[in-house]
Amino acid sequence: MSKNHTTESDILPINTDFPINNKYKSINFNSRIRQIIIHYTAEDTQKSFDTLLGKDKNKVSAHYIINNALTEKYPDFIYQIVSDSKRSWHAGVSTWGNDSDLNNSSIGIEIVNLDGNVDAYPEEQFQAIVFLVKKLKQLYKVKDVDIIGHSDIAPSRKVDPGKLFPWERLAKSGASAWYDESDVEYFRSTLETAPNDEIGKEKLIEYGYHIDKHIKDLKQYKFVVAAFQRHFRPSGVDSIMDVETYAILLALLKKYR
Ligand SMILES: [Zn+2]
Repeated sequence: MSKNHTTESDILPINTDFPINNKYKSINFNSRIRQIIIHYTAEDTQKSFDTLLGKDKNKVSAHYIINNALTEKYPDFIYQIVSDSKRSWHAGVSTWGNDSDLNNSSIGIEIVNLDGNVDAYPEEQFQAIVFLVKKLKQLYKVKDVDIIGHSDIAPSRKVDPGKLFPWERLAKSGASAWYDESDVEYFRSTLETAPNDEIGKEKLIEYGYHIDKHIKDLKQYKFVVAAFQRHFRPSGVDSIMDVETYAILLALLKKYR
């Protein structure tokens, strides 16, 4: 008689101690971490910690907090409050490139600053940001184009880290994207007018921004243009896709996409 199912007599007590053999390694894998997202906390140091540690019942966090000044209670600039391997709750409804719900695929860094559109980031704090972002970029092989702000991934809801965040310096320190000035000059010289809305949308989408092309209303597009300007043309954040903004976008596409 063939025996093709487990019978009473085969059943053993559950073995709770199987070895897991890791002798063989596949080369086919990548990091689950694909983006680094930068925020400001909009609160002072103490409130930032309380909020992000979960003390005030808000369901928000980040992997790191970067302090703005050293005190007895907070004697360091960089604090890790959630392990990189865990999913911290910093992004909310968000999209970048082919990824959405970016809590799944990103590291979140909250920087103590009340309003990065008004208050400059102190030099020492900025040095700590460069150090941490470069370290994470190297560790997880994150691409420069995927080191971005909260407003880049949620343009209609968020304005952080703000137009005073020194993206250009961060990029030139080797830890995010920036255009080559010569490319911008070239594109400016070839453009007679700003692009129409359809082309403007397409190019922003190509870079990584999310725009629903079926929405005829221009509100969403304007939010995205403002987010792009806050990041790459902070001297003029007016939600209008002018020739300079478009030339910067084309220069970035040429370099990175
Ligand atoms: Zn944020």
